[in-house]
Amino acid sequence: MIRIAIQAKGRLNEQSLELLHDAGVAVDDNRRKFLTRSASFPLEVLYLRDDDIPQAVSMGVADLGIVGFNEVAEKGFDVSVVQQLGFGACRISLAIPRAETYTGPGYFAGKRIATSYPRILRDFFAREGVVADIHEIAGSVEIAPAVGMADAIFDIVSSGGTLVSNGLVEVEQVLQSEAVLIATPGLSAEKQALLEQLMFRFEAALESRGMKYLLMNLPQESVERAIEILPAMRSPTVMPLAQTGWCSMHSVVREEELWNKIEALKAIGAEGILVLALEKIIK
Ligand code: ATP
Ligand code: MG
Repeated sequence: MIRIAIQAKGRLNEQSLELLHDAGVAVDDNRRKFLTRSASFPLEVLYLRDDDIPQAVSMGVADLGIVGFNEVAEKGFDVSVVQQLGFGACRISLAIPRAETYTGPGYFAGKRIATSYPRILRDFFAREGVVADIHEIAGSVEIAPAVGMADAIFDIVSSGGTLVSNGLVEVEQVLQSEAVLIATPGLSAEKQALLEQLMFRFEAALESRGMKYLLMNLPQESVERAIEILPAMRSPTVMPLAQTGWCSMHSVVREEELWNKIEALKAIGAEGILVLALEKIIK
């Protein structure tokens, strides 16, 4: 049995449950319980505030956790980051009022900066040799300059819309973050084996995201050119059709490349193109 901590509610909750689901780990999302047992895998899910996940994992209260890398870096607990999970992408950035002129990190010398990430900011300023006044606040960091609580902020940015609506401009991206799988250092052999099994399943589920399965009929003489258009995992599958001179070709493509590939394939004579959803990619 292994225990994983995930965010109880918030931006990472749904995608964490979805990843477990895609990995064949069924858990009912009963929000009133804080611990649930999977029916299909020897795993328990512990629902916590994201701030508490690194500590819970470092203490072994949970063996694993899914949390933003920003929280791992800020809390500084002893945990191993074992897998990047490709969702919850954001960055933590310094932002200043739009009317100001930015001159590089030295701009912040002697300034008051509001943030919920004091440790990451302290490390950045130490690297840059800047001495500034870091002012830790728990929430609504972005309004601090407008109300006179700070000269600048250090906060999470994803699209940048919140900054713009508060008259701020991003000037330094200090940390790139996404959701990560973390583990207690020194898991028992039994738990380590379960972790490896989970990581293998997560990878297969993550690999298949944004991928499509493509099949089409192709004149035999176009096969070489089609292979250049479609570099599949090893190489595309080609099967003969009953009608001589034609074959069926199967491959996997990234969704964002799909239309370009289809147009290129039509131009060399592809017909009857089917695009199918892809469940899992096992490498
Ligand atoms: P909790 O109640 O669990 O403490 P929270 O309010 O601290 O929740 P959320 O706003 O749900 O946290 O964000 C969780 C994580 O989602 C962040 O730590 C970060 O890793 C990631 N994230 C991605 N994009 C954003 C964004 N635009 N704003 C905030 N967090 C984001
Ligand atoms: Mg939090």
